[in-house]
Amino acid sequence: MKMAELRRQVCEYGRRAVELGLVIGSSGNISVRDGDLVAVTPSGVPLDRLTPEVCPIVDVEGYLVQGDAQPSSETPMHLAVYAATGAEAVVHTHSVFGTVVATTMTELPPVHYNALMLGGAVRVAEYATYGTDELAANVRAALAGKQAALMANHGGVTVGSSLEKAFEATRLLEWLCEVYVRGLSVGRPVVLTDEQLTAVVERTFNPPLFPRRG
Ligand code: 13P
Ligand code: ZN
Repeated sequence: MKMAELRRQVCEYGRRAVELGLVIGSSGNISVRDGDLVAVTPSGVPLDRLTPEVCPIVDVEGYLVQGDAQPSSETPMHLAVYAATGAEAVVHTHSVFGTVVATTMTELPPVHYNALMLGGAVRVAEYATYGTDELAANVRAALAGKQAALMANHGGVTVGSSLEKAFEATRLLEWLCEVYVRGLSVGRPVVLTDEQLTAVVERTFNPPLFPRRG
């Protein structure tokens, strides 16, 4: 896909992230790649004020290829994720409920079967200073086999085979965290067992077909 289109997508989903309250100001960052090239949000610019030209393009080794603005400080994390997974897009936010879970727990347990869309339980990556290679390594480890991870005392990150899918995963992660946090205020959220989750996977892959009349 052309980089111009990917830069446009970064702007579109930046706006949506702000509109949906997933990020405030310039917190959070977004990237999408085409082979060795990655379009990423610039550092320190509110995500609803982006234009395609201001979104830097970096290569997978972290060299700036196009654009005047500095790439997001979390570019090392985005690149580490691309290096370790087949992901085509990465979304990082400081969404409220995700951050609440990330500041209080080491894992978001699967209390709803939709957690399977993110790989089941969501790990919380160990804390490290934002923008560091250490944080990038911690996030890469927490994402192993998953579409989402939380980042201790920081926020959340999701991946996808497109920016649309990575963004939807971010929305789902936030919803799951909200359900869990609100559940805690009512009682003790019940965690689904491995058996219950396996049954969901089986049903998803082999759905019963409705018989046709006549
Ligand atoms: P940037 O503005 O550099 O992308 O930083 C925001 C952020 O979320 C850091 O973790
Ligand atoms: Zn951040």
